[in-house]
Amino acid sequence: MTRTLEDVEREALTCTKCRLAAGRTQVVFGVGHSNANLMFIGEAPGFHEDKQGEPFVGAAGQLLTKLLGDIGLRREDVYIANTLKCRPPGNRDPMPDEIESCKPWLKEQIDLIDPRVIVTLGNFATQLLLGRKVGISKVRGQRFDWRGRILIPTFHPAAILRGGSAGLQMQQIEQDFLLIRKTLDEAPETGEDPGEQLGLFSQ
Ligand code: URA
Repeated sequence: MTRTLEDVEREALTCTKCRLAAGRTQVVFGVGHSNANLMFIGEAPGFHEDKQGEPFVGAAGQLLTKLLGDIGLRREDVYIANTLKCRPPGNRDPMPDEIESCKPWLKEQIDLIDPRVIVTLGNFATQLLLGRKVGISKVRGQRFDWRGRILIPTFHPAAILRGGSAGLQMQQIEQDFLLIRKTLDEAPETGEDPGEQLGLFSQ
């Protein structure tokens, strides 16, 4: 029998593959439409996410929800997940071995949800999927072919909040969301998949 997203989530909720299991309140697996066309991948749960068990429910989440609303989408229309499913202590950066341990959960989520468009929020998710150490400012707002899907990196909403609502980055993330809307509105393309040569999950 094929595993469903619920099967994977049930298993993930008891994961002890890395040190973060010891300090979490709960695993924050992901939320949204299980067959969404559009999937967001953030960094890791913060304080509120760890308490509530849902990604992007704090201040950064409110900005994400607003940006979605601006392009006519609700949270329940998309799927939202993180690179790490457990909160790093004090919201420190994810460590490479933690990302490595958590990667199979993300891979199963992507395979089962099967989104046409993936948006990575910030450096960690972007570098994980692209498989190279590139700064988000260099690649944001571009479209990449990624394993038969379209990958659009953009800033992490928390970074936007640090820069203020009138900042350049706010204008840029708004532009990136317009690109997301445009991409969703375009007919799916068929043909060659150069994304197969790119980074993550190729082993
Ligand atoms: N930041 C993230 O990257 N993910 C969350 O779920 C919340 C804040």
